[in-house]
Amino acid sequence: MSNRGPQAKGPSPGERSSRRSGRRSIKHSGNRADDRPVQHKLDTVLRAAWNRPFYRQHWRQHGLVQTIDDVLDLARSGRFHQLPCVRKSDLRRHLDNVVVFDGAVDVFSSSGTTGRPVDIPIHHREEPGRVGGLQRVLRELGVGRGSRILQLLSLNDLFALGPLAWQAAKAEGACVFRCTPQRAGRMRQVLEYHRPQFVMGNPFALVRIAEQEADWWPDRHVLPDHAFLAVAATFDRDLEPTPVVKKAAELWGFTTWLNHYGSSELGPVACECREHRGLHVHSDVQFAELVDPRSNQPITAPDQPGELVVTGLSLPRGFLPIRYATGDMAAWLRMDPCPCGRTSPRLGPIIGRINRQLKVCGQTVFPEFLVDLADHCPGVRRSAVRVRTGPLGDDEVTVLVLPSRQGEAEQTRRLVHEELSRNLAVAPAVHLTSTDQLAALEADASRHSNLVKIPRFFDFREDPP
Ligand SMILES: [Zn+2]
Repeated sequence: MSNRGPQAKGPSPGERSSRRSGRRSIKHSGNRADDRPVQHKLDTVLRAAWNRPFYRQHWRQHGLVQTIDDVLDLARSGRFHQLPCVRKSDLRRHLDNVVVFDGAVDVFSSSGTTGRPVDIPIHHREEPGRVGGLQRVLRELGVGRGSRILQLLSLNDLFALGPLAWQAAKAEGACVFRCTPQRAGRMRQVLEYHRPQFVMGNPFALVRIAEQEADWWPDRHVLPDHAFLAVAATFDRDLEPTPVVKKAAELWGFTTWLNHYGSSELGPVACECREHRGLHVHSDVQFAELVDPRSNQPITAPDQPGELVVTGLSLPRGFLPIRYATGDMAAWLRMDPCPCGRTSPRLGPIIGRINRQLKVCGQTVFPEFLVDLADHCPGVRRSAVRVRTGPLGDDEVTVLVLPSRQGEAEQTRRLVHEELSRNLAVAPAVHLTSTDQLAALEADASRHSNLVKIPRFFDFREDPP
């Protein structure tokens, strides 16, 4: 099966004009009306940030800058990366000095277990831009007036993407059927009576629904052909579809699917085109960098992973991100033009969270890498990673495997161990698990989450990073 969709539609008019102008790819814009050079936009947002007490203090305390002219000088002289990053911990500590609630019409709250939540106000003139980022991916998918969409992305209060996707679909003239995945009966009605051509959801949830409802699961001609898949990686660093996407495509019969990247702090940052060559950064409104988390130096090699750092280029914003360090490690950031005609930078898949790094006998490994290796093995239905603090204070990592067939369980476990050994100097332990054990771990890990992501990493360390 291929994930290559039908003929690509090519760039939007604004993107073509950007190419003709001969500007560097980083200056790409998907929107003609907002096609000013990045430098000009950076100047504008830096001046706006200087007016927020937090940024002025944050930048000054690092000793590099004292005035706004110093800040502008850094940005204009190719030393923008020297400006200190902002992290979610800064938001939590200084929220009142960072965000502006005046003019806000909505609030996106990040999931947090304790302490003050990071509530991001969305300004009324900011919201159309956030919705517009998702309209781009829906248009690329083929959504238009008269389209019918099954919406399985949650609309609950901890999830920014669901409401935005809903608004974006309506703005494109589509008819949206909102369903929670837990109400399978309702979903069945929608599929049978309304035949939506599109679905928006998390691929892990889509696979689970199809497996749980196997006794009535309909034929492909009843199911949507096209999917907006979110909240999970859909392709690997080599641009091949991830195992969960292959499975979702098999069970649902998708012919096309597209992914996107964004966060409640930043809004939509990037989305795929039908060429599946990475996530095109919305470079008219977001400026993306990859940074080596150890040295804080920018990564310039086209295939080197790094932490994604994003600066918002549009105003107004309830939270103005200037070098916001997302904590997400991206596989790469490529600048070469895409066959679709767009020239915006393309972001590789997110390969892990910085605070989830594990030490397996001295090797640094992300749990996402381990489950990805396990998922590629035949006979694996689901996999997860559990970590505890070992007797010597090290990370005791176990890959949990739920086999497709009980009769072949031990064989499947061995296969996974061999695959891990091939890819790591020392492989972590591989244990078999059951549906019940996995469900209990998931339920426990979901206590404070937004119930959208299905947890696959269970951290029982005494002092996680
Ligand atoms: Zn493209």
